[in-house]
Amino acid sequence: MSEATSPPAPAPKEQPAKVFAGAVYECVRCGTRTTQEELSRLPEVKCICGFRVFRKARPSVVKQIKAI
Ligand SMILES: [Zn+2]
Repeated sequence: MSEATSPPAPAPKEQPAKVFAGAVYECVRCGTRTTQEELSRLPEVKCICGFRVFRKARPSVVKQIKAI
């Protein structure tokens, strides 16, 4: 283990392929908007208010989903 002279390699971004980066979800209870990226960091999909039902907030497309 020696960190003498290593060429600067660009850090690869690890992103799960199952989620769409940039997808916005809106809590159906308090209306707080969050991104899929933020939700994926949490141990479980949950709003700051404690509610677990989100609906996808996408422009031009309105779909209601229940994450239960
Ligand atoms: Zn909420």
